[in-house]
Amino acid sequence: MAAAKYDVIVVGSGASGGWAAKVLSESGMQVAVLDCGRPQQDSNFNEHEPAFHLKYRNIKFREPVSPLIRQTRPIQGQCYACTEYNYEWFANDHEEPYTTAAGMDYSYFGRIRMVGGRTNVWGRQCYRLSDLDFKAASHDGFGQDWPLSYKDVEPYYDLVERYVGITGMREGNDVLPDGQYLPPMGMTCVEWKMRDLVKQKWGRTLTLGRSANLTKPINGRQACHYCGPCERGCIAHAYFNSSFTTLKAALATGKCDLIPNARAYQVLMGSNNRATGIQYIDTITKQHREIHARAVILSASALESTRLLLNSRNAAYSQGLANSSGTLGHYYTDSLKGGGAEATVPDPLKPPQMFGPRRPNGIYVMRFRNIPGTPQMKSFLRGYGFQGGSGTGFRANAPGFGDAYKKAAKEPIETFTFLGYGEALPRFENYVELDPQVVDTFGIPVLRMHVRWGDNERNLVKDAGEQAAEMLEAAGMKDIKVHSEVHLPGDANHDVGTARMGADPKTSVLNQFQQTHDVKNLFVMDGSCFNSPGCQNPTLTIMALTVRSCDHLKDEFRKQNL
Ligand SMILES: Cc1cc2nc3c(=O)[nH]c(=O)nc-3n(C[C@H](O)[C@H](O)[C@H](O)COP(=O)(O)OP(=O)(O)OC[C@H]3O[C@@H](n4cnc5c(N)ncnc54)[C@H](O)[C@@H]3O)c2cc1C
Ligand code: SF4
Repeated sequence: MAAAKYDVIVVGSGASGGWAAKVLSESGMQVAVLDCGRPQQDSNFNEHEPAFHLKYRNIKFREPVSPLIRQTRPIQGQCYACTEYNYEWFANDHEEPYTTAAGMDYSYFGRIRMVGGRTNVWGRQCYRLSDLDFKAASHDGFGQDWPLSYKDVEPYYDLVERYVGITGMREGNDVLPDGQYLPPMGMTCVEWKMRDLVKQKWGRTLTLGRSANLTKPINGRQACHYCGPCERGCIAHAYFNSSFTTLKAALATGKCDLIPNARAYQVLMGSNNRATGIQYIDTITKQHREIHARAVILSASALESTRLLLNSRNAAYSQGLANSSGTLGHYYTDSLKGGGAEATVPDPLKPPQMFGPRRPNGIYVMRFRNIPGTPQMKSFLRGYGFQGGSGTGFRANAPGFGDAYKKAAKEPIETFTFLGYGEALPRFENYVELDPQVVDTFGIPVLRMHVRWGDNERNLVKDAGEQAAEMLEAAGMKDIKVHSEVHLPGDANHDVGTARMGADPKTSVLNQFQQTHDVKNLFVMDGSCFNSPGCQNPTLTIMALTVRSCDHLKDEFRKQNL
């Protein structure tokens, strides 16, 4: 059967793929979006379903308790967002394994297999990078600068933020540039007091988390009603999920076809060093298919796009497609989790509430280490920010039995938490490769992770724990618990950097428009392009760069360069 002919194929429909589909189809191009996940629809959303309706009551601590999760998703179940409500949105770990090099553990969870990718379950925190991040190497000499600067990305941040809808407060702090925000969600009294304290005592900025939840209706989507569990979907479409925003807009143009249940495994190449399409497996029928286009965009997430390029190796590119530099798979990086502290607030002001409101957001303390005007820390480069905040609950863990327990459990307890998110240095020796022996359920070679954190990461996380505790102590909090152990790589779900961008084709895979140096009509528009990732959550930047690169791609089409 003759294959369809498109202008562009986009592999992946998550944060980046959704934007690529929208921008290109709205410009009149014919676009095909392939995603290995199932179609997402409102009837799958269950954010208002009480746990007592579920067979296992959604009981879950760190390890999955429900046998449904334990049997099929022992790794995915370690992600806080994977619950009895939505575990089938996540990859089946037995069907899609990965391996690790000896002595190197890696948490590869949060692998969503629904259209919309990880935007179905993400935490929605949206922070811009600044030139402290884009030009980090110039500041401290480690790694390489991005081949672009904040001014290049700024208009795209504006555009994306206006469409996505982000609640936030403007602070005028160059370390974390302000964006285009919807009205802020409120902060608690304790958070306001902490904001004043850390500003007065240390000059630090504590602000409202900048979160992709609507505080007023936009684009036919409703404002958030604070029910809380956004990772189970949202019937009001009040958080940003590409399946009901960007991708929906793309499909509405009539120029975009969505092909779900389509697992891409190879980029097809023509005789003239051009990508001609994608080879994929229909995951329902198990049939192998081909689809063709004038340009190919990989937006399958940093790790999966890298895997696809490695699996597309051929006679001309024996180490992986578009890998003449030998850097594909290398410079893996991620956010560092583990440093922080929690405490109880003396004399909580609010009674606990059984039914909300539950603000789906928290606070953010902007990076204050190794910023201009401060001394360089002796034990680590780069920095971290804190997420967290305060909340009031019941004392479910109160001691005692019977009436005494019932009484104690109803007493309010207010806690304050600072969770550090730090920058892990991008190093050549942290890399992913194809496992020579292990394949997934479709016969496709899987990734082997070769990632280990070093002293810089450990020292940074330790400092985050100490600083969090110091702030809580200064605020008069009680029962302070400090966390200073770095979590495993992968734990933050912010995998980036495995096909980095750079001006020099000898040391990078992509140019500043996420176009591979080696194959002109092949683009990788996801987090794999990152150099220094900053300590900010990456997705806002992933989306802004995708729109910027699509503008370039459109120009190149117009000039007939592609
Ligand atoms: C629990 C959780 C919380 C998070 N919180 C935040 C946060 O607060 N802020 C933030 O910035 N980021 C957060 N992230 C990370 C964020 O979700 C990702 O950075 C972002 O979604 C990446 O976008 P992407 O388009 O590259 O990949 P994804 O959104 O993961 O989309 C990739 C898509 O490609 C598809 N795909 C993969 N392989 C193939 C293949 N071979 N063939 C066809 N299709 C394929 C997948 O099914 C998926 O739909 C969080 C992630 C998780 C899991
Ligand atoms: S908290 Fe808000 S965004 Fe989240 S599911 Fe509820 S209404 Fe939707």
